[in-house]
This record gives sequence, C-alpha cells and structure tokens, in this order.
Amino acid sequence: MRLKRMLQELLEGFQEKIPKEKWKIDSKDIEIIFEDFSKHFETNVSLKILPEEDRKVLFRFIKRYIKNYLPVYPDENRIKLLRRLGERLLIKLISEFSVVEVYKIILRAVEKIEDEGKREILKEKINFDFMIVISPYINLSYKEDKKILKDSSLEYVLSVEKGINIHLNIKNELYKSLFSGKNHVKIKFAEDCEFTQWLRDSLTNLVNNKNIIKEIESLHEKFHLMAQKILESKDNFTKILLLKDLEDNSLKLIYLLNKIYTENLSQIAIYDKLTQVYNRALLDSILYKSAKYAKRHKLPISIIMLDIDNFKGINDTYGHLEGDRILKTVASIIKSSIRESDYAFRYGGEEFLILLPNTDINGAIVVGEKTRKNIENFDFSLDRKITISCGIKQIENFDNPYLDIEQADKYLYIAKKSGKNRCIYGNTILTS
Ligand code: GH3
Ligand code: MG
Ligand code: MG
Repeated sequence: MRLKRMLQELLEGFQEKIPKEKWKIDSKDIEIIFEDFSKHFETNVSLKILPEEDRKVLFRFIKRYIKNYLPVYPDENRIKLLRRLGERLLIKLISEFSVVEVYKIILRAVEKIEDEGKREILKEKINFDFMIVISPYINLSYKEDKKILKDSSLEYVLSVEKGINIHLNIKNELYKSLFSGKNHVKIKFAEDCEFTQWLRDSLTNLVNNKNIIKEIESLHEKFHLMAQKILESKDNFTKILLLKDLEDNSLKLIYLLNKIYTENLSQIAIYDKLTQVYNRALLDSILYKSAKYAKRHKLPISIIMLDIDNFKGINDTYGHLEGDRILKTVASIIKSSIRESDYAFRYGGEEFLILLPNTDINGAIVVGEKTRKNIENFDFSLDRKITISCGIKQIENFDNPYLDIEQADKYLYIAKKSGKNRCIYGNTILTS
C-alpha cells in the first residue's frame, strides 16, 4: 500500500499550518536548485557567475514556483525537495513558458566558461527556444528515487474527482513552433515513459484486476515505441503526427489510472481527522481548480473565512477535550448549512474556510449569515453561547484566489475588532 501511505503522509504534513519561515527561500536554496538543474545538462555553471540581473530573474521565477510546493514538505526534507525542484524546472517547463527565460540565463552563464571547447558543447546542448517534455502523465506522477512525487499524484486524484482533465504536456503552440521551423524545439522524454517494475508493484498494491495492469503495461509499451519513433524521425510533420498519436495513447493511460485512483479514493485521507471537513491539503488544489473553472465558464465563486469567537476561553474553562467537541460540532453545523456542491475546509485551529462555487457575493452573504445564526442558536449545553465571525468575499483574482482569501481574512479581522458574532464583506457589517 505504498502509494496510499505516501498520499497519507503528504496530507498529514499539511494539517499543521507550516509557518512561513520554514518555506521561505533564500539564495542558498536557489543555489541548490540551480546546481541540480545544471546537472541535467552536465554543466558546471554556478549561480555565482551569473550577472546580478539574471540572478534576480531566476530568483523570482523559482520563488513563484517553489511557493506552491515547499509548504507541503516537512523541514528535514528541504534539501531533497529543492533538488527535486531543480529537476522540475526542467520537467515542468511546458506549462511555464517563462522557463525559456531560465534557459537563456543559463546560456549566458555558459558564455562565461573559459574552456572554449566545452563552451561550444554546452551551447549546443542548451540552445533551444522550446522544449517538449513527453511523459504519459507528468501531472499524475513523476518518479524519482522510485517514488511518486506525492503532490502531483494528489493533484491528479483531485482533478479526476472533479471531472477536470489534467493538462497534457504537449501544447499546440509548440506544435506550431515545431512546424514553422522558426524556433529551435527540443524533445525530451521523461523517464516515466517506461513501465517499470516499480510501477507494476504500486499498481498491484492498489488493484486486484490483473487485466487492467496488463493493459496499462501494453499502453506503456506502445507509448515507448512511438516515443522512439519521434526521436528518430527527421521530418517535423511526421513528428507532429506522432505526437498527436502519443497524446491519444496518453489519454487512454490516464483514463485507466483515473479509474484505479478514483476507486481507491475513499481510502485516501482527505478529511481533517477531528472535524471531518476537508483538510488544508486539499484547499490549494480545489481552490485553484474551482477558480479556473469559474473563470472559464464566467461563473461567480465566493469564499467565507470563519473563526470561532473566544475559543481560547472555552478551552481554558472547560478543557481541551470539551474544546474538541465544540470544534467538531461547529464543523458539523457548517456542513449542514452549506450545499453538497460547496466545500468546507479546516483552515487552521478553529478557523474554517467555505468555498462556494457558482455563488456571488449576495448568495455568499446568505450562506454566511445562515451559518452564523445556526451556530449562535445551537444548544451546545454550555453556560455560554458559541458564536463565530466571518469574512466574506467573492473571488475576483481567478488566477490567484489567495489574494481574495487575504481580503476575506481582513474582513474577518474587522468582524472580530468590531464586536464578533458577525459577518463582514466590503465595508458592510452584518449583525442581527
Ligand atoms: P477570537 O474570538 O479573537 O478568535 O478569540 P480566540 O480565543 O478564538 O482566539 P485565537 O484564535 O487566538 O484562539 C484559538 C484557540 O483555539 C487557541 C488554540 O488553543 C485553540 N485550538 C486550536 N486548535 C484546537 C483544537 O484542535 N482543539 C482545541 N480544543 N483547541 C484548539
Ligand atoms: Mg477564534
Ligand atoms: Mg483563530
């Protein structure tokens, strides 16, 4: 059950809010990433020889990139993770065109290498405008140290659950580029093209049906064969045709794995243990995907940040166990106050986040107020009332919904400051 265990580990790592200091990166971290990245080209290019301006670009790029991944991992794995990111700079670049920028930086660095012969070889290796990295499922899993990269597997599981297809790594723009011959395109195959013993073992752990595994294996073989042909083919048009075939093949593979993972989804921990709402680990993925969906279909989507009032006092007066019971009850009231299609997450200790797809600010206010009142009116069998405060916001930053969360957090803060047991949106205070 290796795969399941790994997913579980990942999710548990997220349950604690990881403080910012732990995932903040500095130039030394970038040095590590860069070192590993360079290793893929067998260069000895060190970050030190880069001009200041290039260092800055790289820093910005990696920072943006790293932010999504670093919080997931426990501190002791930091170096390991950074190394992985170095590799990922190379692997992920299809979806991040800015990586081309990174390559250019490396190219400039290569210019500074004193050994002329070596410089020429490296230049030849690095000089391209686009790179297509082909993998049957880069977004699903990427193997390293015979492990599935946990976050990407998770992302896959989730996108399947929500019925959104993962992005294939072969983009039309790159096809065009390949076809026009204007740009220098390089094609590279990720190592997970091959069906390894390791993959077989992982799958066997998950499914009993040997036929499915056989089918996956044969699709892999086909994939590998086609990949080989692409590498050998000299003519770009043939390459494009083969790439399209590869894409079809990849879809089939993804479909099968989709089946396997969704059928096992119930066994993967996605809920917060205490409160049985979704845990924080899921927020990132669901939030981004829902925002993206809303943007594409021009639908409103809103969030509610919610925090229990004076909770410390509850713990202090009645003890931690009683505190836990209240927390659980509040969570279940939240769940019963929202729709099936909405999501409730445990965001922090006694903080929750409600995500309301297909809901504008007016709808969100109704939900916020309903939840607040339901909690206020619930009999917790204590000598005091339990209340909550909320910050409500319709998502406007579809590409970075965390900006809206930040804003909702500010509203929540105002709700607390102005007397608690209320919902705030914009400049409006709602109290009964
Ligand atoms: P405010 O109205 O301003 O939110 O006041 P508060 O007392 O709720 O303030 P604060 O957010 O600082 O306190 C949260 C407390 O919640 C502190 C922490 O001990 C408690 N807490 C966090 N997680 C848990 C948990 O899982 N179980 C219990 N029993 N308590 C928890
Ligand atoms: Mg509180
Ligand atoms: Mg709090």
